[in-house]
Amino acid sequence: MALHQSWFTEAVDRTGTAFSLKLGEKLHEEQTPYQKIEIYRTETFGHLMVIDGCTMVSTRDNFLYHEMMAHPALNSHPNPKTVAIIGGGDCGTLREVLKHATVKRAVQVEIDERVTRLAEHYFPELCSANPDPRATLHFGDGIRWMREAKPGSLDLIIVDSTDPVGPAEGLFGRKFYLDCLRALHRNGLLVQQSESPLLHLDLIRDMHRAMREAGFAQARLLHFPQPIYPSGWWSATLAQKTRGTLASRLNPATLARLKTGYYNAQTHRAAFALPNFVKTALKNS
Ligand code: SAM
Repeated sequence: MALHQSWFTEAVDRTGTAFSLKLGEKLHEEQTPYQKIEIYRTETFGHLMVIDGCTMVSTRDNFLYHEMMAHPALNSHPNPKTVAIIGGGDCGTLREVLKHATVKRAVQVEIDERVTRLAEHYFPELCSANPDPRATLHFGDGIRWMREAKPGSLDLIIVDSTDPVGPAEGLFGRKFYLDCLRALHRNGLLVQQSESPLLHLDLIRDMHRAMREAGFAQARLLHFPQPIYPSGWWSATLAQKTRGTLASRLNPATLARLKTGYYNAQTHRAAFALPNFVKTALKNS
């Protein structure tokens, strides 16, 4: 197929993989104090946000990621009232969190305000819940914010950050997890985007080990499709402070209230069903 049209391509040398989307046009580009942000209009995926050359969010497939970063964790906690989102500047995860009536307060801690301002313009549907009185948009470093968070003040922490490089690197280590553990209430949960089970299993194993070393009783992988990310197969890690089986709010009433495109009781359960090669790799982590 001749590449006669212009295409956006994210090529990753380390994994020898690439992903491309056929373009309409580049809509915006800027260098912020933290990263380079580009916005494109694509032919079939709507708008695309790219940060430092990595695909972040597209109009067409972001629902897969945002729903799976929010609902499995929220429906695994008996009564999630206070939520902190670290990163998440496109506001899609915040929108999903606020679909839960139990949530009384959701604070989003995004280091780069320009990500949110550009999302408001190019992904207004992701920012539709921002005016909700339960939501607080805080612009600052999530590492520092968590270090200063009041002990026991959070029921759920969602780390919706970029890959573990640059400003996000410190979000994937034991020190940060110690601060999360302290900030979480007794039966609190941490869920963090944990890259691709196919391409980044070593990183996932290191994350699980660091979470356990920090004192989390359990770390469980959940996985789901995410076409615009490397390999198209993505994951999140759900860590719980205390031992024991996770609560379940998968009751028909909770699920009926959730207007979702991907998430339901079946995909919730399927997300935690691990392939053998993943189970083996994570067994001793
Ligand atoms: N879904 C995307 C992914 O998995 O790569 C992440 C979406 S969101 C755009 C990622 C956000 O994390 C970015 O807006 C970035 O500015 C933010 N971020 C990175 N490091 C951060 C930090 N230390 N504190 C707060 N936000 C951070």
